[in-house]
Amino acid sequence: MKPAAFNYHSPTSAEDAVSLMAEYEDAELLAGNQSLGVQMANRLATPAHLIDLNEIEDLKYINETDDGIEIGALTRHATIADSDLLDRQLPVLAEAAGEIAGPSVRNMGTLGGSLGEADPAGNYPTVLMALDATLTLQGPDGTREEDVQDFHIAYMMTTLAEDEMIVGATIPTDPLPPGRTGMSFQEIKRVPHTWPKLSAAAAVVVDNPTADEPTVEEARLSFGNAADTPLRTADAEDAVEGTALSESALADAAEAAMDASEPASEMQADADYKEDQIRVFARRTLQAAYDDALQD
Ligand SMILES: Cc1cc2nc3c(=O)[nH]c(=O)nc-3n(C[C@H](O)[C@H](O)[C@H](O)COP(=O)(O)OP(=O)(O)OC[C@H]3O[C@@H](n4cnc5c(N)ncnc54)[C@H](O)[C@@H]3O)c2cc1C
Repeated sequence: MKPAAFNYHSPTSAEDAVSLMAEYEDAELLAGNQSLGVQMANRLATPAHLIDLNEIEDLKYINETDDGIEIGALTRHATIADSDLLDRQLPVLAEAAGEIAGPSVRNMGTLGGSLGEADPAGNYPTVLMALDATLTLQGPDGTREEDVQDFHIAYMMTTLAEDEMIVGATIPTDPLPPGRTGMSFQEIKRVPHTWPKLSAAAAVVVDNPTADEPTVEEARLSFGNAADTPLRTADAEDAVEGTALSESALADAAEAAMDASEPASEMQADADYKEDQIRVFARRTLQAAYDDALQD
């Protein structure tokens, strides 16, 4: 099948893209075309107007600022995976980008497209939840900031208004002191180059990496595909904070993460299996981030 006929627009600024969305009711944004193209080819999406964002050069960047790391919505997965700046500052994000699909999807797919698609299994939502990211959204009246924790409201639904687009994400690095912060991204895939059945991201800050028993000062743990939306597990974090990541603290964190989850059954991964794996991943991801903090 071929896509239904559509009108094509190629704005060169986010302002123009948003104006086009306000002008045309039945319009869809096009970024890397790795998800939308398939939907259109199968006529699951039949927008009358396609607003191609690829000519908006201003949305392709990874910058370090006083607020942290800023990434433009049109930045490709491959660029994020290969970024030396991210590898130094937020390696978990570069790692998660490098695990998305295969090279052809990574060369075209974008941060904004992935966040706009809002799949609860998406690598970025999982990691950005753990990194306390803020999204910048642009609408006809200008930009607004949205905490990524508040962005996802139901299965593949976000707070993005019909005439808004994602222009970028900011990840604060201040609360993650170098030398005593560790991060980890873990996932299970049935076969390579597909979506994960489950993923988890953690960031752990310890008080003193060279102490006999370094204590977890701050822990962050989030999951992908463990519920209808990406999931941050505050009770699991509380279970390990103030501990030296003892066996009993990890066991409590694993139970808390499982309790917070509401995984859906799918082919090759029913809900019971996912609940078991959420326990395993809570332990594994926190432990890996803790171990990483001691290496810094
Ligand atoms: C085989 C395969 C395997 C995959 N595996 C993974 C995986 O393991 N992990 C993972 O995270 N992803 C995976 N993906 C998805 C991949 O990351 C896609 O690239 C991504 O989800 C969509 O990004 P895109 O730039 O191609 O967006 P498009 O396909 O162009 O658009 C997707 C949706 O987002 C909207 N959109 C685009 N840009 C914006 C914007 N700036 N603001 C608001 N809305 C916008 C579009 O209107 C559309 O509704 C996989 C995809 C494929 C085909």
